Amino acid sequence: WSKRDFPWTKELEDNNKKVFGNHSFRPNQREVINATMSGHDVFVLMPTGGGKSLTYQLPAFISPGITLVISPLVSLIQDQIMHLLQANIPAAYLSANMEWPEQQGILRDLCSEHCIYKLLYVTPEKVAKSDFLLRQLENLHARELLDRIVIDEAHCVSQWGHDFRPDYQGLGILKQKFPKIPVLALTATATASVKEDVVQALGLVDCIIFRQSFNRPNLRFSVIPKTKKCLEDIDKFIRGTHFDQCGIIYCLSRMDCEKVAEKLKEYGHKAAFYHASMDPELRASVQKQWSKDEINVICATVAFGMGINKPDVRFVIHHSLPKSIEGYHQECGRAGRDGQIASCVLYYSYSDYIRVKYMLSYGAAEQTPFTYGQPRTSSTNSGRLETNSENLLRMVSYCENDIDCRRFLQLVHFGEKFDCSNCKKTCDNCSNTRTLVDKDVTMIAKQLVELVKSCKQQFSSSHILDVFRGSMSQIVKRNKHNLLSLHGAGKHIAKGEASRVLRHLVVEEILVEDVKKSDLYGSTSSVLKVNEQKAFTLLAGRQTITLRFPSTA
Ligand code: ADP
Repeated sequence: WSKRDFPWTKELEDNNKKVFGNHSFRPNQREVINATMSGHDVFVLMPTGGGKSLTYQLPAFISPGITLVISPLVSLIQDQIMHLLQANIPAAYLSANMEWPEQQGILRDLCSEHCIYKLLYVTPEKVAKSDFLLRQLENLHARELLDRIVIDEAHCVSQWGHDFRPDYQGLGILKQKFPKIPVLALTATATASVKEDVVQALGLVDCIIFRQSFNRPNLRFSVIPKTKKCLEDIDKFIRGTHFDQCGIIYCLSRMDCEKVAEKLKEYGHKAAFYHASMDPELRASVQKQWSKDEINVICATVAFGMGINKPDVRFVIHHSLPKSIEGYHQECGRAGRDGQIASCVLYYSYSDYIRVKYMLSYGAAEQTPFTYGQPRTSSTNSGRLETNSENLLRMVSYCENDIDCRRFLQLVHFGEKFDCSNCKKTCDNCSNTRTLVDKDVTMIAKQLVELVKSCKQQFSSSHILDVFRGSMSQIVKRNKHNLLSLHGAGKHIAKGEASRVLRHLVVEEILVEDVKKSDLYGSTSSVLKVNEQKAFTLLAGRQTITLRFPSTA
């Protein structure tokens, strides 16, 4: 597909320079364009900032008819249209929140003899719910003016992805109605299972797949234990490494965003918060100020990000645990788009795991923004919840791992091989000079599992650790846990070591955190349970567990 003798090659090269102002093509852009212009269904996996838009905007410009683009966010669409109009490329969009006369005007233009638009953007719910739009598309198709269908952020189709949107699932209708029209599906994030799901749900035929490495060599990755002094640590980090530079701090809740922004302002940073329940005008103004460098640090939920095109973001900090490795990779991907070095720092505490798990279980987590998705239906609920929990556990496992290369850990998740020597000490684990030793912790693991059972699977992980280490606290005595045979079995083991083994058992799903609302005010509690199926081999003495610890010698 990289050949340069297609009938459209000259026009492609000329217009890439003249209209889009690019000197050359970036990796895979030419290949994707040639494949879609040849009439194939194409699936593109390209990291954020890789230049996906050009792969359909340039073909749209040199094709006679119209390209339909399905994109999830109105803000993203508006941004794209602004750029297209600046380049004199006629484009329009339709969304549910537009006034009806305005929509009618655009639909009328579509019916005009020579359709005046090169690109028509719509949100997915428009396709799912507007028969009128489908009729217009049929009309364009009958007049041979429908050239191509583009599905942007295609991972939203998949239930297994981190950003599922129910309206995306209805997009399969496009291929059913227009089987001969080439579809181009684009995403910056998809594991093998997500990719399969997308190809199937959209009904793509003999699809050509392009993917390139998801490694971002200019990003520096680290995970830092989150303590009570986290905000002071963040202040020191920004002051020391990125003062007056531009960055994003991802927070879990809206309240966290406001608190973190407030504190950073006190520390003297130009900070602001951003989340979905803000007044839309204020939200847009914050984003604008940030884009113009009037605000340096934006404290945001995941609502902030998709479509953010600022090249010089120098740091992305996660104030709490991201919900999946895919989400994390995409959020970090907003840093260093200009290719210059940027930092990605994640502050991790196990208690955040319980918090996020609770939010996901009870639907309190903020989805990637302003979704058009309906409330989850009960039939999809349990599968979705399971996927969410698995995605979250993988994230915990990533954070708990203080040995393996961070790039390797992320890329393996996308099915990509990575030789850790190529990290060149650009992640915390690879640059760590500690000596590590393997330690067999099977006995500790077995005792912890037995202890969870002895405590009737009704107590939290910190209580189990207290009993294990021989605490005589009121709560231990009140529950007569000081009388259990395993009380104090771990008193000679460092607390950090025992808790690391326990967390490893959770990551391996031998123990399970069962989160609940503990009172009417909605505070959270979690109790440890044993997953009998997974615990069986360990308890039967047929599994050994080895962990690496820093050498004390
Ligand atoms: P993605 O959608 O993959 O995140 P975009 O399509 O938004 O990326 O492109 C990111 C940036 O790269 C944009 O500013 C775009 O103008 C620029 N860009 C895209 N292709 C090229 C190219 N061939 N040469 C130079 N700049 C490019």
